[in-house]
Order: sequence, then structure tokens, then C-alpha cells
Amino acid sequence: MDPLANAMEDRNTDNPPRVVLRRDLGEPAPIPASGLRRAEQVMQRGYITRYGEFGREQSEVALLEKDFAAYLGCRYAVALNSCGSALFLALLSTGVQPGDRVLLNAFTLAPVPGSIVHAGAVPVFVECNDQYLIDLGDLARKAETGAGVLMLSHMRGHIADMHAVTELCRRHGITLIEDCAHTLGAKWDGTPSGRFGEVACYSFQSYKHINAGEGGMLVTDDPDIAAKAILYSGSYMMYGQNGAAPAAEVFARHQASIPNLSLRMHEVTAAIARPQIQLLEERGRAWNASYQDLAARLAAVEHVTVPARDSREEYIASSIQFSFTGISAERIARIVDRCAAQGVGIKWFGRPEPRGFTSHFEHWGYAPEQPLMNQTREILSRLCDMRIPLTLTPEDRRLIVQVIADSIQATR
Ligand SMILES: *Cc1c(COP(=O)(O)O)cnc(C)c1O
Repeated sequence: MDPLANAMEDRNTDNPPRVVLRRDLGEPAPIPASGLRRAEQVMQRGYITRYGEFGREQSEVALLEKDFAAYLGCRYAVALNSCGSALFLALLSTGVQPGDRVLLNAFTLAPVPGSIVHAGAVPVFVECNDQYLIDLGDLARKAETGAGVLMLSHMRGHIADMHAVTELCRRHGITLIEDCAHTLGAKWDGTPSGRFGEVACYSFQSYKHINAGEGGMLVTDDPDIAAKAILYSGSYMMYGQNGAAPAAEVFARHQASIPNLSLRMHEVTAAIARPQIQLLEERGRAWNASYQDLAARLAAVEHVTVPARDSREEYIASSIQFSFTGISAERIARIVDRCAAQGVGIKWFGRPEPRGFTSHFEHWGYAPEQPLMNQTREILSRLCDMRIPLTLTPEDRRLIVQVIADSIQATR
């Protein structure tokens, strides 16, 4: 029997829905065997603190910094305990002072405004457009308001026109910090994301492209920013052990004035993260194949919109975003609940109350009052997000889209 017919029947009979996806959309990428082996060796040796007095050849963290810098083609890389820490140190190391205004996308994840508040600075939100990107018109307006820094999240992997962004920043003397939590391996017009700003930050949290549970990386070509970030990260003056660090004389300029904040990465984290650099390409292909299939299927569903992406954007889509259009928020809530009951966990940014990864600017009371942000509010009220596990099969994808389509039908 056609499962679609089953789902249609439910509406009349009030039976529980029958089409169910039986797998976890939150399934993270597994740690490769080589990572497990390295982690075991490191633990057996016992030198697992962030700086042993053993020199840098043996430090997994230093090796990860070296490999990561080589992968991205940047001069310096500093491994930290999270991307949130990397964003925070990016602000401190580029000279942000308490009270400074920092621009950021209104559509972003909580650790981003969190890092700005952590630095004592003031988040100033920039509107999001219907391609889920930072709105360049609003950015140009807010660039006039005296902010010295733009912390740009390539939120959920969506990359704005980076030629336009960098030109705007240059014109206004704004320092660009890229939040690449979801764009490790992605490019804009041939240039890797993270190579446009003065600093870029990456995440190794389980739902990002390298899964080390927790972890972050700060990269830059600026020796002073790199030295400051290393000193802040807590080097106990053993910065000579870092894997991609500037020369000693650069540290000499800063070491007396930078406090030790203990934010460096753990050895075991680096041991499981490092072998995953080589897997990025293969993972990217798997994610994008799933994404493109899901996007095509979803685009064919009435009331679902998947925005077209710029051909210059070489994304790595470890998740998919779409909008429910032409239906009320109340109905979207029922659709999302119905999908959840059928095993399809859709994260919806339109909930009035903060929930999980979909909390948004209206929920962040620690940011001072912002202008109305009506455009972003309208976009978020329809915006949905779904993770793409690497092992998603064509049959899973067919089922997911069927559940969504059925739920739209059933809530009419
Ligand atoms: C995950 C994420 C972060 C923070 O990463 P953590 O490593 O969890 O601190 C920052 N920005 C965006 C857009 C993210 O998705």
C-alpha cells in the first residue's frame, strides 16, 4: 500500500502517523580508527595536559595546528577548547575593548553573541535576508555606526558574497572575523572560507565537519594576533611548543601584557581531530550528495521553499535549511510536531520560546535592545533546519520528504 495514502488516512481517523523514519538525524560522524589509535597512545603515554615539558614534536595539539594551517594555507593556527573560545580570543587579540560595538548576523548561534559579551563588547545585530545570509544593505547602514569589527557567521554553512563583504569592511576600516563553524572545507569563488578575514574560527564540536566532541581553531596570517591568541590561550610561556606560531620576538612584544586564560585544546581532542582533516573531502561529497537530493525533493513540496544558492558558493552542507511559505506560524508548529512524532526532527527557528540550537536574537537578553529587526524576525518565523547524517540513504531522504509533505497535507 502506498505509505502516502496511509498518512492521508490518519487525518480522518486520528490514528498515530504510520510513516516513521527510524534513524537518528543527530547521528554525528564517527571517529576514524586512526584517531582512536592516536588517542589511546597519547593516553597511555600520559602526557595529556596542554603543555608538557616535552617539546613540540610529541604534542598532538601542535601537530594538529601544523596540519590545519597547511590545509587552509594560512601562516598561524591556534588550537582551543571550543569555537566559542576562538571567537572570544579573536576579539581580544584584534584589540576589541570593553564597550566597543561588534557587528554580527542576527541569524547566528548563541556562542557568537556570547563571545562578544564575554569580551565586554556590545553585539549589534545585522539583518538576515531570505537566502539566510547577512543583509548587505543593512550591513552597509550599520557599518556607519562606529563598529570596528564584523563577526560574520557563515551560519549553517551559507556564505555571503565575500567580495562585497570584504570591500565594505575595507571601506569602513572594519576588522573581519569569520565564524567558519559550518564552513570548514567550503569556498567562495575559489577561496576557502576563513581566508577572507583577519581572523577565522572553526569548531570541532560533534555537529561540525570535524567531530572531536569539543574544540576550536583560530587561524590568521597576522603574527601579532597569533601571538596574542596563544598567550591568552594559556601557554605558561611554553609557546615555543605551538605547532604554527610566529617567531619569539613577536611574543616578546606581548607577553608581559597578556593574561593566561587557559582555553587551549586538550591532547586527546587533537588526537581524534587530526586524522579527520584528510576525510573532509570525502565527507563533503557525501553531505552534498544528500543535500542536493533533499533540496530537490523539498523544492517540489507545496509550501516549502529552498533558496537557490550562488554558483560561486562551494558549500559543504552538513545540514539543510528551508522555509515554510504561505502558511501560519500556528500551522508550522503543528507540522513540526507531527514530523517529530514520525522521527523527522526539524529544528524551527520560529518558536516564541528558546529551544536548543534554535534560540535566536530575541531570546538573548544579555544583548542590549536592538532595532526592530522585522525582516529577520519574519525570515526566522518560517526557517527550518535539519541535520544531515553522513550515512543518510536515498530511502531515508525519500521518507523524510514524504513525512514533511504528509504533515503539511494533514494539518490543512
Ligand atoms: C557551533 C557554532 C559555534 C560555536 O562552536 P563551539 O565549538 O560549540 O563553541 C559558533 N558559531 C556557529 C555558527 C556555530 O554553528
